[in-house]
Amino acid sequence: MTLFADLRLAEPLTRALAADGYETPTPIQQQAIPPLLEGRDLLGIAQTGTGKTAAFALPILHRLAAAARRPDRRTCRALVLAPTRELALQIAESFSRYGRFLALRTACVFGGVSERPQIQALLPGVDVLVATPGRLLDLMGQRALSLEGLETFVLDEADRMLDMGFIHDVRRIVRQLPAERQTALLSATMPADIASLARDLLRQPVRVEVTPPATTVERIRQQVLFVEASKKRELLIHLLQDAAIRRALVFTRTKSNANRVSEGLEKAGIATSAIHGNKSQGARQKALAQFRDGRLRVLVATDIAARGIDIDDVTHVFNFDLPNEPESYVHRIGRTARAGADGIAIAFCDAGETGYLRDIERTTRQKVPVFAAHPFHHAGIADGSVTAPPPASLQGRRMQRNGPRQGARNHPGGGQHRAGPPRQEKQHRRDQHNGHGKGRHAAKPDAARARQAGQGGPGSWMRSLNERQNDGR
Ligand code: AMP
Repeated sequence: MTLFADLRLAEPLTRALAADGYETPTPIQQQAIPPLLEGRDLLGIAQTGTGKTAAFALPILHRLAAAARRPDRRTCRALVLAPTRELALQIAESFSRYGRFLALRTACVFGGVSERPQIQALLPGVDVLVATPGRLLDLMGQRALSLEGLETFVLDEADRMLDMGFIHDVRRIVRQLPAERQTALLSATMPADIASLARDLLRQPVRVEVTPPATTVERIRQQVLFVEASKKRELLIHLLQDAAIRRALVFTRTKSNANRVSEGLEKAGIATSAIHGNKSQGARQKALAQFRDGRLRVLVATDIAARGIDIDDVTHVFNFDLPNEPESYVHRIGRTARAGADGIAIAFCDAGETGYLRDIERTTRQKVPVFAAHPFHHAGIADGSVTAPPPASLQGRRMQRNGPRQGARNHPGGGQHRAGPPRQEKQHRRDQHNGHGKGRHAAKPDAARARQAGQGGPGSWMRSLNERQNDGR
């Protein structure tokens, strides 16, 4: 077994790791640290939760310390680009933590806050700069920073940069990098645009690929609960009565829904807050801090705001809305089961989301077990006899990205969303014809029956949700 001690990192780094209780490098660390220490370029296919930050931070710190020099004014020796402020801050914290016994200077710049302190921080020059692309370009435009003399460049979460529309900013930054440099590109998936960027950016890179989603999700106990869209909030409040849910992240598709869900929870007396792109940086940081230290038991988030959040001990992840991209589902549930712990992921699926569920199952190559013994179970959605078009905002936007796991895109069954309304109509006619009359209203008897069964709170059946793997479908 490889230990950190075997990786020949500088003593101040191994000391910091030992003090943090890190003994064994994760697979990406084992594979990426030696070639990065040698100065090679890296193509890392890995997502958050794999230990990827330390995989690039440790060798960068080692090399900066080994060739110690004062950075020139308004320059940085290593630059890490990250798609979100939260991730940028987290990466900068990791550099500061691992490098705390080295005399290196780290700075972090991102948008949404005043530029002045960031310009001040860059003035004397820094060893490590972590930045989001937009703010970095602004600062470069004002000559607060030059990339001349840069030694190492890291592009983290490259696929997310693409999703968030930052790829042109990234390319503008890349054009200003010195030709002579070490480069690492990390991405959870490898869509064509990122593969092409990697070809332009990297020189004979070492390719390291760890934990494709299908294996990452294995440690996470997943369940799907079929429920009408209008009942989701009630269901969530009901589930949250279970004290086993100590720290829960709830994902919604939209900012407005994040607000609505968090307001609903607050009204029900559940301490919560929402983070999304419309919240100020201060509000987001405050909510994260309160969630981290346990003052908030539930954090409601959109994908972008939650991306890369590194909070240990998230016991449950709720997919209040199912994402239209299976990779987002994998990222979301990866917020639990971090650093080797097991976690529980609970997805709500309404009549318009069954196609997304199928995409997710195809991508992860796993069936998500159904949990039906809850008061809001909708048998019609579960057995596919009740369908609805996907949410208006997403119609025609299923599986847009062309990553390697896009199997569903051209899959014969993949068009169900676009065919939503006609299929619903057809089904309705068939139901009438067969005398079933089964439609949305089928929820009522189910719910009433289950509610009776669930009297006395969610304790018992929630416990079985926590423990049971599968009740079949
Ligand atoms: P990352 O994938 O970089 O977001 O890291 C995921 C989490 O794993 C972070 O909380 C790290 O502090 C933690 N971590 C990283 N490397 C190790 C390691 N070798 N042993 C234990 N925990 C680690």
